[in-house]
Formats: sequence, structure tokens, C-alpha cells
Amino acid sequence: MNVHIDSAAKGVFIGNRWRPSHSGRTIDVVAPADGKVFAKIAAGGIADIDEAVKAARYSAEEGPWSRMSAAERGRLLSKLAVAISDRAEELALLEARDTGKPMKQARADIVACARYFEFYGGAADKLHGETIPFLAGYFVPTERVPFGVTGHIIPWNYPAQMFGRTIAPALAVGNATVVKPAEEACLTPLRIAELAAGAGFPEGAINVVPGLGEEAGAALANHTGIDFIAFTGSPEVGTLIQIAAAKNHIGCTLELGGKSPHVLFADADLDIAVPVIANTVVQNAGQTCSAGSRLLVERSVYDKAVGRVQEKFKTLQAGTPEMDLDLGPVINAAQQKRIEGFFSRAAEKSIPVLAEGKIATGVPEGGYFVAPRIYGPVPRSNELAQEEVFGPVLSILSFEDEADAIKLANGTEFGLMAGIWSKDGSRALRVARQVKAGQVYINAYGAGGGIELPFGGMKKSGHGREKGFEALYEFSTLKTMIIKHN
Ligand code: NAP
Ligand code: MG
Repeated sequence: MNVHIDSAAKGVFIGNRWRPSHSGRTIDVVAPADGKVFAKIAAGGIADIDEAVKAARYSAEEGPWSRMSAAERGRLLSKLAVAISDRAEELALLEARDTGKPMKQARADIVACARYFEFYGGAADKLHGETIPFLAGYFVPTERVPFGVTGHIIPWNYPAQMFGRTIAPALAVGNATVVKPAEEACLTPLRIAELAAGAGFPEGAINVVPGLGEEAGAALANHTGIDFIAFTGSPEVGTLIQIAAAKNHIGCTLELGGKSPHVLFADADLDIAVPVIANTVVQNAGQTCSAGSRLLVERSVYDKAVGRVQEKFKTLQAGTPEMDLDLGPVINAAQQKRIEGFFSRAAEKSIPVLAEGKIATGVPEGGYFVAPRIYGPVPRSNELAQEEVFGPVLSILSFEDEADAIKLANGTEFGLMAGIWSKDGSRALRVARQVKAGQVYINAYGAGGGIELPFGGMKKSGHGREKGFEALYEFSTLKTMIIKHN
């Protein structure tokens, strides 16, 4: 595959300029589809993060970015959306090479990334304050203002989408940003930052420092010069981010994944539900925070519904990006081993494997492929019913009635997303309203990325909201002016 990897080799991107990391160290970039090194990225560290934060501070307070009107910022975001769309195929190839995902998924991710900049470009000048009735002789307006410098730490599963999702709203309200993408997949964020400079973003508005989590990530999270931090990743690192934010007395958003349920009632339309359910757990090889990884089925329809899901799973195939099948490899050997660990512990507990998909013939030997799998019935307390596998693994459980369905749906530490499947509209709504999750779908799931839809967790899935108009509130703060005029 012929991909543009120049920006990977250029180092850290600070103040619209490339340079090597201060340490001069690099990190090999491995293609998950064949396990081979195909590029090197800079290993940024404390000194690079410090410089990026300073560049962002200048941009937020003194540089041209700080003087732009909301409409001008919006226009730049819209221009970047067009620049991304114009290079969609190049970026999709880069994303697919870096993450291993099928080309159709990579293409959809680039469309979504451009859409973030388009949406927030349009929204930038539509964030209004209010006026508050107060004592006689006073006039009290409120204004949404940027924090200043926002830090963004993003994961490897959807690098381009995550980059758009986290920086577009922060930029729309006037923050300057410092991004630490994941060491496993950061080529599209680096390339898009370069495109942003080309589109006219002033220096320091977007800075990207690749590197190791415990070096560059920790340096960013703990830097006293940032005013807010947004994190997506594991609950363990989320805890560290929140501790760092607490020490600096700044706010943070945490998006920490989930164990999201599909609740399938006996009257659900299986023809509609089954393909969606299968796709939501194999999409991106199951490495999706909002994967629908638990299927909860009403007992009276258990055999029939499970039979249909089994049929579907047996047709699923994992392959390389170019093969463009149902899923690609997982991100690396560690993730593959982690998933296989779930498999061997499930075997020890004699949890039945209900169906398995295939790894396509002809995939390279060194690729990190995992065939999709269904387990069921999974005991309610087993890790397959409780923990995020982050692989193409569906756990099936059964419930007795509506009350049991709600208890089971809410029976994990997570609360990111849920899908309710029933033709009884009243019941679907009743259940949806009692499920603790940031997004609940009825007779649908995922809705194609849903840039317009506020997204985020309850419980251990985290806090704060990204996407939609809500993200503009998340990345800004409120100033109230109390004016006495007599
Ligand atoms: P992770 O370590 O939490 O990585 C997320 C981001 O945090 C990456 O940019 C990472 O950098 C950075 N990071 C790591 N340690 C850090 C530290 N001490 N301080 C600041 N930043 C740090 O997640 P992972 O190791 O890639 O994946 C582990 C598990 O997390 C997965 O199996 C999955 O269950 C979960 N996960 C969830 C999501 C989600 O969307 N909610 C996404 C990815 C992973 P490096 O990449 O350089 O380490
Ligand atoms: Mg990591």
C-alpha cells in the first residue's frame, strides 16, 4: 500500500513547525496487518511538551489566534474540513496502515473526522451567553470563554476521529491545543495538524507531540501550564489523569470505555437487530469504547435469537485493510495476547463458545489477527460479562422480564452506551429511561458516529461530554459580568 508517511518522520509539530524531539529518540511504527515496521515517530518528552504548552499559551493569549473572532475561527475549522475531505483517500490509507482497520472503516473514519471540523466550524459563532434579571440598576450578561490551553490525550483505536472529536470543539471556542496521540497510532493526527497549518491556523493553535504515554502523556497531564485536559483511554490511566488534574486544580473529561449492552426483547425484529448487533462488536475488531459487547436476550426468545447471531458470526472474516472484510487485526501483540487471555480463562471456566468467525486465508503471518467469537450463556459475574475485552468478542446472557433486563443492563461498573430492541414502544422507552448510560438507542445502535450527539459516560465510563453542541460547553467556561448603571 502506498501511503504518505512523511509527516511521521518529521518529528514533533509545535508552533506550525516540525522538528525532532529534544531527546532525538524515535519510536518504531508497526503495521498491525503484518507486524512490520514501516515508519518512525518522534518520542516526545518533558522538554517537547513544555515547548508545546508555551507555544499554545502564546497562541491563546497573544498571537493572532487570540484575536480572531468566533466567525473567523469557524471559517478556519471549515477550511480544514475541506482540506481533510480533499485528501480523504490518502488519509484513509494512512489510517488503515497504522491501525490495520479495513479500508471501508478507515474511509468512514476520515469522513467523520472532516465532519467534526465542519460541525464545529459552523457552531463556533453560535455559542451565546445570556442576560440575567437582577437588582434594579444592574445589567448582568454572561459570556462563554475559552479556558486558554487545553491538553488532549487520545487513544489508538480511532486516531483521526478522536483527533477531530477532541480538538475541533476546543478550537471552536478559542482554546489553543496540545495533543498527545497514542504511540501505537498517531500518523493521521500528525498529518492533519500539518494540513491545519496549510489551511491557515495560526502558529500554536494546534500542537501535536507524539511519544510514550508515561513520558509525553504524563508530562502533558501534569504540566502546570494547561487549563483543562481531555482524556480517552483506559480507566487505569484515567485515574492518573484525574489525579494530575486535581493537583493542578483544573477540570478534565474522561472517556474510559464500557461494557455496553444490547437488550433484546422477545418481540424485537431480529432481521433488523442481528446484523447491527454483530457489527457493533466486530467493528474495528471490537476496539471501540462504545462496542455493544453484551447481548442480553429475553429467555423466551433466547434459542431463536442466539441461533441467528451464531449464523451471522460464522460468516464474519478478519483480514488486511486491502481485503476490506468485516474486521482487521487488533492493534498489537499485547492486545492480541490480552484477548487470548480472556479466551483461556473462559475455557478454564467451561464457558461455551457459541460461534467463531474466520481469519481469511492469505493474511500475512506476522499480523495480529483474532477471529471474532461469541460466548454464552456467560455467568453474570464472569469477567466476560463485566470487563471491557476490547476485542471482537460478544458475551450473551439471558433475562427473565423487564425488571431483570434493567438490573442486568445496569449490572456492570460501566455506563457508556446501550441499545434497546423491542417493537413495544412504551416498554422500550421505559427501559431506556432506566438504563444508566450516556447514550441509549432504541431499535438502533451507533448511528454512524453521530457527531451531533452528545457522548460520554456515567459511572466508571467517565464523565464529561464530547460531541454535539454540548462539547462547546465542556471546553469553555462561563463568565458573568455584573454591571451597575443606576
Ligand atoms: P491507555 O494506556 O489508557 O492509552 C490512552 C492514551 O493515554 C494513549 O495516548 C497513551 O499513550 C496515554 N497514556 C498512557 N499512559 C499514560 C500516563 N501515565 N499518563 C498520561 N498518558 C498516558 O490505553 P492502552 O494502553 O492504549 O489500552 C489499554 C486498554 O485501554 C485497552 O485494552 C482498552 O480496554 C482501553 N482503551 C479504551 C479506549 C476507549 O476508547 N475508551 C481506547 C483505548 C484503549 P501511549 O499510547 O503512548 O501509551
Ligand atoms: Mg499504552
